Amino acid sequence: MTGAMFDKVLIANRGEIALRIQRACKELGISTVAVHSTADADAMHVRLADESVCIGPPPASDSYLNIPRLLAACEITGVDAVHPGYGFLSENARFAEILEDHNITFIGPSSEHIRIMGDKIAAKETALKLGIPVVPGSPGGVREEGEAKRIAEEIGYPVLVKAASGGGGRGMKVVHKASDLMSSMAAARSEAKAAFGDDTIYIEKYLTRPRHIEIQVFGDGQGNAIHLGERDCSLQRRHQKVMEEAPSPALNADSRKKIGETVAKAIAELRYRGAGTVEFLYEDGNFYFIEMNTRLQVEHPVTEMITGIDLVLEQIRVASGSQLTLSQKDVTFSGHAIECRINAENPRTFRPSPGRITYWHPPGGLGVRVDSGVYQGYTIPPYYDSLIGKLIVHGKTRNECLMRLKRALSEFVIDGIETTIPLFNELIRQPDIANGMYDIHWLENFLSKP
Ligand code: ADP
Repeated sequence: MTGAMFDKVLIANRGEIALRIQRACKELGISTVAVHSTADADAMHVRLADESVCIGPPPASDSYLNIPRLLAACEITGVDAVHPGYGFLSENARFAEILEDHNITFIGPSSEHIRIMGDKIAAKETALKLGIPVVPGSPGGVREEGEAKRIAEEIGYPVLVKAASGGGGRGMKVVHKASDLMSSMAAARSEAKAAFGDDTIYIEKYLTRPRHIEIQVFGDGQGNAIHLGERDCSLQRRHQKVMEEAPSPALNADSRKKIGETVAKAIAELRYRGAGTVEFLYEDGNFYFIEMNTRLQVEHPVTEMITGIDLVLEQIRVASGSQLTLSQKDVTFSGHAIECRINAENPRTFRPSPGRITYWHPPGGLGVRVDSGVYQGYTIPPYYDSLIGKLIVHGKTRNECLMRLKRALSEFVIDGIETTIPLFNELIRQPDIANGMYDIHWLENFLSKP
């Protein structure tokens, strides 16, 4: 089945991802509507859109997260669909539902799938049912002390207390011994309550030296699904990704095919629609499911670079009712890609550094891509996250990719604010990075050295 392509799409986001989505819309001949807070009136995503609507003051709760205001913007401009990007309302099942009630397509999965995967306990149960291996842990939420102690003994310390509604690494506590369990559970609970309004927690085996490996999937909601290989996102600080690469230095073609096929089969069985990411921890040759993200990821370009597939374009096509035009055998992997998240932050303390960009010179050349929403003379507002751009580099081999990345980083000049570029300049010179020998703790260990 093929659906009618959209005429006009509203992009409910800001920054580099709003621009990224606009590019795909323009290539498909779709008109774009940008929304912005008063703090973003000068933003590039607003300047390049066909139309724009100011939806409120700077705080996200009054603008980018405000559903009534977004709905009003949709009505005024008469759009057929909304792309939520990542963050903000991208995993808000209620938003997806409300749009559908207004006959506006949400470019993403069904609200039902967003809801299941947004609850990490329900997501784990679903994964288990579909034959995906999960981290050993409590079968559901844990309430009382005796039960928690029993489960922790069973799986063995260290354990990790996690929030069912968790995100961004919040509400997570590592517990090394039974005497710390109660206080850590209480701390995780109150953190989760404050951040997500839900204090349900569960317990998982704490893996001590895993890699974070995630599989990009794509379904059409009509029973067809494919995988686009993996991304290795093990370089993290405070459970937040800093640098990502594809393919993972830890996998070979066989293990990639095996996990990819398991996941694609599960996604097809779910009748999942759109792009999704199934996240795993990988240790000693075994995969352990941790969560599924029902949206586009920040790091999606590394997959695009090695597959040549435009993920946003495919998201829009599938949301318009088309079947997947790609089958698994159309997906081929070529070369290697690495992404560096360029944040407006001090490269050692990670303190945000908003302000005016007095000079901006991005790198170029073969295999170099910069996805960014900023420009020379632009003032970065202090209200939103500090990601100002992504440098993505592709090479025929991992080695060529690393050499090209070193060259591209040396060309990149941003003045007026602090950025994380010096950190990447350092990382790229570390033998462990050159050899692909790192797990999820590597970066924090590296940063803790004087
Ligand atoms: P969030 O949604 O808050 O980002 P995730 O479940 O995706 O939480 O986990 C984020 C990161 O936390 C992972 O990439 C990993 O570094 C770490 N982590 C999560 N679960 C475990 C675990 N069972 N053992 C060790 N580390 C974990």
